[in-house]
Amino acid sequence: MKNILEIELKSSFKYQVIFFISAMMHSVFLITFMLTRIYVLMTFNIISVLFYLIAFAVGRWGDIEKHGVGWLSACYAEITGHAFICTLWLGFEPCFYLYAIIVLMVAAYVLYLACEKRQFLGIIMIFTVITLVSVLFCLIYFNFFDPIITSVFGKIPDKSHIGAMRAVNLLFNIIITFFFSVMFIVEIQVLIRKLNTVNEKLNYSAMHDALTGLYNRRSLYKMYDEIKDNGNFCVVMGDIDNFKKINDTYGHGCGDDVLKGVSLIMNEMADKNDIACRWGGEEFLLVIAGSKESCLAKLNEIRNKILDLEFTQGDKKVTVTMTFGFVDCLEILEHTEFIDPSMNIDALVQIADTRLYYGKENGKNVIIDKNVESVK
Ligand code: GH3
Ligand code: MG
Ligand code: MG
Repeated sequence: MKNILEIELKSSFKYQVIFFISAMMHSVFLITFMLTRIYVLMTFNIISVLFYLIAFAVGRWGDIEKHGVGWLSACYAEITGHAFICTLWLGFEPCFYLYAIIVLMVAAYVLYLACEKRQFLGIIMIFTVITLVSVLFCLIYFNFFDPIITSVFGKIPDKSHIGAMRAVNLLFNIIITFFFSVMFIVEIQVLIRKLNTVNEKLNYSAMHDALTGLYNRRSLYKMYDEIKDNGNFCVVMGDIDNFKKINDTYGHGCGDDVLKGVSLIMNEMADKNDIACRWGGEEFLLVIAGSKESCLAKLNEIRNKILDLEFTQGDKKVTVTMTFGFVDCLEILEHTEFIDPSMNIDALVQIADTRLYYGKENGKNVIIDKNVESVK
């Protein structure tokens, strides 16, 4: 079963709930006023029930969201009008005016998500002023006159009837407050979940290369700070040999496939504490955790797997080789020009790059793991 907080609230569903609840409540009022023989208010409620049934039908089978703000405004007008007339008719005692107040809360919640911020502020301010004026009018009115039922029709309503209406109205208001508070929380949870999903996607895009799915340079710097404290590691700069020729001969599509194939191998070979990153173009940077020997063994395995890659273009077989510049992080201590060397990724990259360049100048398809001077 779905968690209540995981249910997606569609606007049309929300409208349907509002219209259905309103129709049910007005049916209760209708029966109440019929039993208490207050026919003017009964007639008002017949019209209200019809209005909400039509609104519900539009919400269920029509395109209610197209004129959602209009329907909600009509709802507000009906509820406030009903509260105002009932209060004038019967006085404050049956508590009908509570609906004019609670409708402001419901309108604020529903309209906030249904229209633009400026429109929302304008509508809510108008609604608040109307509610305020109607309640104030009733307050002043009852300072001078009795409720209409008495002052115009000369009837004094039964105290038990008024008491029953008050009980029903207070109960309805508590239920409405609870119901819409829960709806509000559900809606906020849904929005937070959507926001988190978008954030995760954005975060992934910001950290990864779109073509190969490997980490990008930005994330390498971020992750390096954690990895450098985990003990010994090696930095490798790798570059695909004669890649321009692959592009020129077999097309960019084939070039992209080669990049993806090479990246897949690097990604699969990278353990939890390693980083495989697309440094740019056809250059890759690997940070491999472990001793020099174990890192070299892993790099050799990567190189062999790349050699085994097979790309076919028509009847031609495309082979891929790579040249690697390799440096152990401990080695950097030997370089006097780096004062705080062990933790400086740029210094390590620079050495790896120099060794890569040396490999390119000297036949390609090799791993250069020694100081360039000593190799020379
Ligand atoms: P070397 O062996 O010395 O590394 O030569 P190379 O041809 O591999 O290197 P060069 O720098 O001359 O060419 C790299 C090419 O990589 C040029 C560029 O158009 C291509 N390239 C860079 N990024 C992409 C990419 O995302 N897709 C494809 N298909 N090609 C790319
Ligand atoms: Mg290259
Ligand atoms: Mg290059």
